[in-house]
Amino acid sequence: MNFEEMCLDPRIMRAVTEMGFEQASPIQAQSIPIAVEGRDMIGQAQTGTGKTAAFGIPVLQRVDPHNKKLQAIVLCPTRELAIQTAGEIRRLAKFMHGIKILPIYGGQEISKQIRSLKGGVQIIIGTPGRVMDHMRRHTLKLEQVGTIVLDEADEMLNMGFREDIETILNRLPQERQTLLFSATMPKPILEIAKRYLQHPEIVKVVKKELTVPKIEQYYYEVNPRRKNEVLSRLLDMYDPELSLVFCNTKRKVDELVADLKGRGYFAEGLHGDMKQTQRDRVMNGFRNGRTDILVATDVAARGIDVDDVEAVFNYDVPQDDEYYVHRIGRTGRAGRTGRAFTLVVGREIYKLKDIQRYCKTRIKRQPIPSLDDVTEIKAGKLLEQAEGVMESDRLNYTMDLIEEYLDATEYSSLELAAALLQMQMGEENTQAMQTEMEFGDTGAEPGMVRLFINIGKKQRVRIGDILGAVAGESGIGGNLVGAIDMYDSFTFVEVPRENAAQVLQAMKNVKIKGKSVNVEPAKGK
Ligand code: AMP
Repeated sequence: MNFEEMCLDPRIMRAVTEMGFEQASPIQAQSIPIAVEGRDMIGQAQTGTGKTAAFGIPVLQRVDPHNKKLQAIVLCPTRELAIQTAGEIRRLAKFMHGIKILPIYGGQEISKQIRSLKGGVQIIIGTPGRVMDHMRRHTLKLEQVGTIVLDEADEMLNMGFREDIETILNRLPQERQTLLFSATMPKPILEIAKRYLQHPEIVKVVKKELTVPKIEQYYYEVNPRRKNEVLSRLLDMYDPELSLVFCNTKRKVDELVADLKGRGYFAEGLHGDMKQTQRDRVMNGFRNGRTDILVATDVAARGIDVDDVEAVFNYDVPQDDEYYVHRIGRTGRAGRTGRAFTLVVGREIYKLKDIQRYCKTRIKRQPIPSLDDVTEIKAGKLLEQAEGVMESDRLNYTMDLIEEYLDATEYSSLELAAALLQMQMGEENTQAMQTEMEFGDTGAEPGMVRLFINIGKKQRVRIGDILGAVAGESGIGGNLVGAIDMYDSFTFVEVPRENAAQVLQAMKNVKIKGKSVNVEPAKGK
């Protein structure tokens, strides 16, 4: 069942479209129709399957924006998850005016939360401890709570929240909907389900037998901001003739195509919003070699007849094991060698483990190739091509030119060859290599440089101050600034390699919180 058939509020549909969701994921297709009817449900699903929207959409559909009382509670194990889930539900609620969604978790000032709650919040996403805290202070009114979601229930039990969860459930109105999501179903979860859920539907994505093609499969753990950079390194390094790149949303397809084109690749996108003529144009380009990278959603790729791609890239981890098999099945056909690469961000690693277990396949972890690796491979390929030219034996005229040049200058033939090779490899690559040599190993993530700043918590600076100073002074976007680790008297901040020199220059005479600071490349970890 797809979103269109679920009779959803048009405002939710609009948000779903804007978020670029092309089809309901399997867990959504099954859960949403049950949950929008107000029935209790147990969903077995893990992160990365689209489970947040699977309960977020029904919760929104059932909330009354004119009623300012608390109407739904989502309990989840960690503050990160609370923040992330609140973000996702807010995106889904973008066009529903009058709905307030608030994450509440330990570590944040309670007085601030109480103030926000007083403003009339219909949906809270909270950790059990903090929700209990508010209940004790009577800052949460529970009479009108119509839905409670237990998200990552197994995780909450592992963290010792069972008692808190049961206390909360006992205080809620009897007439309510309870949705329980959990990656695993151990006995304590089933006990809770039995005690607190009424005639629950059990939703589990049933899996078909699938055979995974025998091809090399690799994954890379990446920082979400570096995905494009890592993908282009892999493309440079393996230099496949035809590649297929999969994204989970239409929006991502468009963004990635624009980025790849900007980097000089011949890439085109394919997704469900495109007209048939557009699709035909893209497909023709791919078949006759004008395009060598096709970026697509799962739905769009299903309708196309390209089998023979050399490499499949999962820019996003697929939301379903079955998609993974379909995707990578596009390569390595008819005895050819094929490769599949998957970029993994944070907790998506669990999804990937699931895929491996269920598909009985092995996906090997690989370090992100360094620029050196990429350069070495690029140089190797060019030299191989040069060998072909040398063997063709038609170099007399050019050799004369070079001889004349070398006679007239002080350069050696080795220097000249190196310069020509560098020119051929592209300036960007060699420039980047030079920065790498300049800064050495600073212990940063690939593609980043870690900088040391001699100011920290003791000087009462906050992460925001550092971010503001680095981005503000150097003019690089705040979203390009990577990890910031703050200690008592110093701080590490990562910036993209290509901006490192610029940041260092800009930070020379900067004051943070009125104090002059010294910024330099960090020493390796
Ligand atoms: P979750 O499993 O809820 O952590 O979701 C993982 C990611 O998938 C989030 O970034 C969602 O925005 C995204 N997502 C959820 N549903 C869909 C869908 N139907 N199509 C594409 N992406 C989705």
